[in-house]
Amino acid sequence: MKTIGLIGGMSWESTITYYEILNREVVSALGGFHSSKILMYNVDFDELEANMSSGNWDGNARILSDAAKRLEGAGADFIVIATNTMHKLVPQIEKEIKIPILHIADATAKAIRRDGIKKVALLGTKFTMTQNFIKDKLKAAGLEVLLPGEKDIELVNDVIFNELCLGKVLDSSRREYQRIIAYLKEQGAEGVILGCTEIGMLIRQKDSLLPVYDTTIIHAKEAARLALKYEAGVMHVFDARYLCPVRIG
Ligand code: GLU
Repeated sequence: MKTIGLIGGMSWESTITYYEILNREVVSALGGFHSSKILMYNVDFDELEANMSSGNWDGNARILSDAAKRLEGAGADFIVIATNTMHKLVPQIEKEIKIPILHIADATAKAIRRDGIKKVALLGTKFTMTQNFIKDKLKAAGLEVLLPGEKDIELVNDVIFNELCLGKVLDSSRREYQRIIAYLKEQGAEGVILGCTEIGMLIRQKDSLLPVYDTTIIHAKEAARLALKYEAGVMHVFDARYLCPVRIG
């Protein structure tokens, strides 16, 4: 089994889900007392959030590159960055290390294409929705990406930073997200990407008119699969968010 270098804490609320899925996937595949080999560097999200707000992306690149180097030095075989937004910095981080980074958008595009979906809605932070670091990967995989309207981009972003990253899950915000998902369905979306690692705290499949692609779950499962070198076939795993066994593969 490979050792996963997990950069977490962005926010720590969603890193819990990564940790749980990684371990459950491994025990599901290998049974018994098995668990995932993980080296984790949990950042102080307050520092990263301040840098994002002031536009100091180089500052964040330095923090995350330092984390990745430490994980590499400690023996990680590959890096998993437990947030969509910080994938903006992957090109800078990659230059500092020799081990690969498992990109969240590659894993997500693979899962969507497997279902034969072409047009997909993307919800995430304002950075993720309006900039190209995630969208370009999705488009390169042949997907058409639909976004909420301008005001709703703000709303989705505000709910992430003012509520979900602080552990607040509000019914009123869930209803707003449901309204936005219904709008995107009307626009032709066939599925919706929960392109922020906290959105799964608010929206689960039962809350959505569209098939949900939760980047946290997809990314963590892909990481476990990579660590186990698990390739083809189907396995049944316990899904931490849906609290039931689900079929993957
Ligand atoms: N976890 C979020 C994401 O997946 C947002 C927090 C961050 O900026 O890293 O994009």
